[in-house]
Amino acid sequence: MAFDLSKCNFSRCKGECLVRCPYVSYDEDEAKRAVRALIAGEPHPILKDCITCAACNDFCPRGANPWDLIAERQEETGVLGIPADAKPSSDWLTKPATVIRRGKPGGPLISAGGIYEVVPQAEFLTGQVFSDATIIGGGPYACGFTETHLGRASRPVKFLPQFIENLARTAKEFGVDEIVFTHDACYNVATTLAMQQGVRVPFRPVHILEYIRNWLRDHPDRIVNPLDIRIAVQGGCTTRYAPKGGDREIWSDWLADIFAMIGVTSVEEKRVYTGVDRLCCGCGIFHTQHERAVDIQRKNVQDAADAGAEQLLFICPACISVMRATCRKMKLEPIYITQLVKCALGEELGPAGTAAFGYPVK
Ligand code: SF4
Ligand code: SF4
Repeated sequence: MAFDLSKCNFSRCKGECLVRCPYVSYDEDEAKRAVRALIAGEPHPILKDCITCAACNDFCPRGANPWDLIAERQEETGVLGIPADAKPSSDWLTKPATVIRRGKPGGPLISAGGIYEVVPQAEFLTGQVFSDATIIGGGPYACGFTETHLGRASRPVKFLPQFIENLARTAKEFGVDEIVFTHDACYNVATTLAMQQGVRVPFRPVHILEYIRNWLRDHPDRIVNPLDIRIAVQGGCTTRYAPKGGDREIWSDWLADIFAMIGVTSVEEKRVYTGVDRLCCGCGIFHTQHERAVDIQRKNVQDAADAGAEQLLFICPACISVMRATCRKMKLEPIYITQLVKCALGEELGPAGTAAFGYPVK
């Protein structure tokens, strides 16, 4: 999570970072001009045009992390600002620590981070998989990665030691040595970022997908309703920071295991916008450039439908909150990971349904 100037070598790349950006149309010369300007601290339209998806970190063949340079300049220049409509994001960081639901002694400790009300975690984290879990949320447990979409990319780095300390204290209080994260932003901050910054993490961070995969593996007899369904997956921006297993982001293996156990067929290999070329949910510009965000969502949803998907699966609460309305309009059912698993376990979805329609989006 830092631009590495020593790796950015214009004679050994084709400007892939911005040539491959799906949201601008730059040729190699313009791409390199833009990166040069950013390195020199000069203004460039990319600062405003960038929708903060982090994909260019994956596109750069040299591993220079150009998105982190863009984010740094966006913060310095205030070019994105924090619009009034986006204020709830900042509010999440100031909410008091809360026990959303108290589980059983010895049960898992799950952190829903700061955005636990974006999708109603108290309703989604229910059923057999979560029956023993204690769920916590609030500002002290918010990694702050959402701020990267709002021109304050330094926030997760600055808050990192406090974030880890808050979680470690709570883990001790509940007598556990691992914490499950519902948002992969928190997971990636507690793993990748903590490692990069040399911050010791005295508990084991567990991704929600790893937790679900392990639970299903330990309870194969509970899968009473194999789904036999074709599904596309919305991979979030924060998943790009996940620890990698070989050339794959680690979460994709957990998800593949879950799909195999509950009878889901992924259509991702038939999609245009998949893997590192996956499209962003548009949350970074949802309030400031709403029509542009919805256009991106339509392209994304259409691509999933064209690949034969019957549902679009979401892991990230932010992604589903901003995309579910477009999914509904385009008749591709959005479904949150916990609800998908409940279907396979033959459980009722409750009032939240597959995607908590009825909760305000915009
Ligand atoms: S960030 Fe990577 S792709 Fe972009 S100009 Fe530098 S080396 Fe080339
Ligand atoms: S972060 Fe995404 S939108 Fe911004 S320049 Fe990189 S690829 Fe393009």
